Amino acid sequence: MKTKEISLNNLINVNKISLNELTIEEIGDEQISTGIETPMKPTAFDMNEEEKIEKIEFHFREIMETLGLDLNDDSLKGTPMRVAKMYIKELYSGINPSNKPQITLFENKYKYDQMLVEKEIAFYSNCEHHFVPIFGKAHVAYISSGKIIGLSKLNRIVNYYAKRPQVQERLTVQIAKELQQCLQTENVAVLIDAKHLCVASRGIKDNNSSTVTSYYGGKFQEDTIRNEFLAYLSLKTNY
Ligand SMILES: [Zn+2]
Repeated sequence: MKTKEISLNNLINVNKISLNELTIEEIGDEQISTGIETPMKPTAFDMNEEEKIEKIEFHFREIMETLGLDLNDDSLKGTPMRVAKMYIKELYSGINPSNKPQITLFENKYKYDQMLVEKEIAFYSNCEHHFVPIFGKAHVAYISSGKIIGLSKLNRIVNYYAKRPQVQERLTVQIAKELQQCLQTENVAVLIDAKHLCVASRGIKDNNSSTVTSYYGGKFQEDTIRNEFLAYLSLKTNY
């Protein structure tokens, strides 16, 4: 399996790519991210969810009609509404900050001061250039600064940011920054290994490649700590 590796620690500094110099196709297929924040309009939340569903339903019906589909067919007639609800309530629910997981931290009563790794967090996202799935596994780790987080919250943070139109680089950094902020520590690592259907099922049609992105903050920039994290990821267990 071929794997493309991208380290994102310098993303903030290397983000000065001029998009004006690129065509839409180049931007799309080269997976360039324009920033760490998901680009949003100031009016993003002027409409409520019900109004958005209604509007998407209308426009998705237009797309299907344009494709020449007969929306009187029993199998197709509910599709625009199903797609609209799915976009707002599921696939793109992470756009709305009110869906952000509530994070409660606990005192580190166990005095556990070693690395905690939550690995193989399955996620489903969608590429913002083609609106087709990106799916894979995220592995996250942190070293406590005195506070600890409920384990399921790590999965919830990954999935909140995955439920947006994404590029993998931005997804990785958004998860890492969120963990650093919640856990009040720089000592966070995120590694994502994912498959992009815009690469596998169209365009170059490469079904074998996967993309790895990583973010190493604080102590994880030290070789020994980083290697310990990577060693845990290759541990084989029989449950
Ligand atoms: Zn794409």
